[in-house]
Amino acid sequence: MEFTDSTVLITGGSRGIGKAIALAFASKGARVAILYRSNQQAADATLAQLSGDQHMALQADVTDAEAVSNAIDKLVAKFGKLDIVVNNAGIGEYHPITSTNYEDWQHVWRQTLDTNLIGPANVCFCAAKHMIDSGGGRIVNITSRGAFRGEPNKPAYGASKAALNSLSQSLAVALAPHKIFVGAVAPGFVNTELTADLLNSPEGDQIKSQSPFNRVAQPEEVAHAVLFLASKGAEFSTGTIIDVNGASYLRS
Ligand code: NAP
Repeated sequence: MEFTDSTVLITGGSRGIGKAIALAFASKGARVAILYRSNQQAADATLAQLSGDQHMALQADVTDAEAVSNAIDKLVAKFGKLDIVVNNAGIGEYHPITSTNYEDWQHVWRQTLDTNLIGPANVCFCAAKHMIDSGGGRIVNITSRGAFRGEPNKPAYGASKAALNSLSQSLAVALAPHKIFVGAVAPGFVNTELTADLLNSPEGDQIKSQSPFNRVAQPEEVAHAVLFLASKGAEFSTGTIIDVNGASYLRS
């Protein structure tokens, strides 16, 4: 898993899982662009931690189609090409059907699908144009165990991630003739700054016990699966969805 001379765009690369993916690619020689929505401080802090010095941060909201297109053009202008895209930015709002009013219900559905599905679809569209011109590329989409297991309190989230799995598979077929390989990584619960408090609470014990390892994933374990799908030699695994859930939910 060597990425010297490769250029990588990681949406949501400033924090959490995306940050671990950015660190992992940079440690293997890639030039990394981290795309963030609004927290410039976090983006700058992550940028400063990446090994090597040719990386960049891009501000864009993935729900803004024009901003996505401009950000990718900016990346190609600086790096000369775009080899790998990781659609990692995502949101997961609570909106249980029995206790959410109709207005909020609709708002969360729209916001979630815009961020977790249509945003990544637009990133794929803009990236694929450059990748086709340069002879190929790789796309890895971060989905979720919730796509398979259901999300009773976050139904829009579960549906958006199932749709993103489906999008990954459709694009794997559509883009194969252009040597663009597309896969998905579906984590279960992951230990990030944002989830640390919950994991240290009594509810955290229940979450950990879902896996026979009695723990959740570390962000670096998700990054490992992403790098595998983006690596040379993984081409024939295009269309694959890799689970990173510590056997907390099994499917075949
Ligand atoms: P996180 O810590 O909440 O970080 C989210 C990142 O995405 C930040 O860099 C944020 O930028 C960016 N972002 C959010 N909305 C955006 C938008 N509209 N446009 C551009 N950037 C945006 O996320 P995480 O927990 O690491 O999760 C990363 C991915 O893994 C998500 O797709 C999530 O669904 C998936 N996942 C997470 C878990 C888990 O347990 N954490 C489990 C399964 C799947 P700003 O900071 O600037 O807002």
